[in-house]
Amino acid sequence: MSVECKPAPQRRTVHMWVDISGVLRWPDKKLSGMFQDEFGNNQPGRVVREYLRIQLAHGKKVLPIGECEGFSFETGCPGHFVTDEKGSK
Ligand SMILES: [Zn+2]
Repeated sequence: MSVECKPAPQRRTVHMWVDISGVLRWPDKKLSGMFQDEFGNNQPGRVVREYLRIQLAHGKKVLPIGECEGFSFETGCPGHFVTDEKGSK
């Protein structure tokens, strides 16, 4: 009788991101509330659009949704290996 010791499966999580030029095609109504100010108030669509245009002008193509370590403003989330052992059901 032997006990096998399997390595933990490598799981990877990828954060969501926004394709700036893609969402700039959306109407203001849909852009509305995509971002909040420091008080948590939803920003109106035209403000979001202005913000996105400025980001594009700075050479950014994508924006992270939430925290993402090592995020690339060109290609998005690099993906993160999850070492959480409670991950399996
Ligand atoms: Zn990420």
